[in-house]
Amino acid sequence: ARAADRAGADQPAVTRDGVAVEVLANVATAADAAAAKANGAEGVGLLRTEFAYLSFSHSPSEEEQYRALADILAPLGAGPVVVRTPDIGADKPAPYLPPRPEQNPFLGVRGVRLSLREPDFFASNLRAILRAGLGRDLWIMLPMVTVPDEVEQARALLEQAHEHLSDQGVSHAWPVCLGMMVEVPAAALCIQSFLGKVDFLSIGTNDLTQYLLAAERGNAELSELQDATHPAVLRVIGDLCAAADAVGCHVSVCGDAASNPAAAALLVGAGIRSLSVRPNQVGAIKARIREWSVRDLAAGGA
Ligand code: PEP
Ligand code: MG
Repeated sequence: ARAADRAGADQPAVTRDGVAVEVLANVATAADAAAAKANGAEGVGLLRTEFAYLSFSHSPSEEEQYRALADILAPLGAGPVVVRTPDIGADKPAPYLPPRPEQNPFLGVRGVRLSLREPDFFASNLRAILRAGLGRDLWIMLPMVTVPDEVEQARALLEQAHEHLSDQGVSHAWPVCLGMMVEVPAAALCIQSFLGKVDFLSIGTNDLTQYLLAAERGNAELSELQDATHPAVLRVIGDLCAAADAVGCHVSVCGDAASNPAAAALLVGAGIRSLSVRPNQVGAIKARIREWSVRDLAAGGA
């Protein structure tokens, strides 16, 4: 990293015209968490739990999940931690969950859709997350939410997980925030119907772009269409920010676009004030934010 990127590592990132932009990190391993802390991340904006869970050949017990998560969180300092419930399915099938023959797995039973169909496994995920988050500013996030009913069902299961742990006398984080990824176009376009039901939003530009442009995210032949700065994506994000700001709902971007300085500039121009980036990009993104003026970005300049 450039020396200038390192200098202000632990300082907040504030634009030239005085707008603070929160910079969090995306983590999946303890090494990522250590790098996030070393690079000055203000917290974790996305902990992808499925990578810990997919390393098991059997369905991991609550205890095994708890230990895997506690190991990942251990290197972190203070600051919010957004732990995503497993985003299993599509490109990330778990060997211990019944395989589903699907013609279009990216349009299939993945993320919260799968979790709600596996309530016992989901309940164990939620209990393990609550336990591992003890003593932390824990935010729990649901992937692939499409309709508000999914949030309501998940919240009921989260409350049951809390009651179950309380009855057993097991210490755990409570109360916690419950939020959602915005990565399905229908959820983004109908965000008003979610705002009273979630505590925060995080935009997954990888999937949101894939679904808005109808171009599979991993298809190398379509790489030109995997563009989170396409006007359609930026328009949806701008409208979402306005709707969320009006009610004071926290919005972040945790897709890969946030780690790309040129794309991040457009996101901030669209109204985003929180970015969750690759751990090794935290310093560089903070340094770039300090060079920007939100007034210029919002007007379409750099
Ligand atoms: C996204 O879709 O942008 C995202 C952050 O989630 P994932 O890449 O894990 O699907
Ligand atoms: Mg996603």
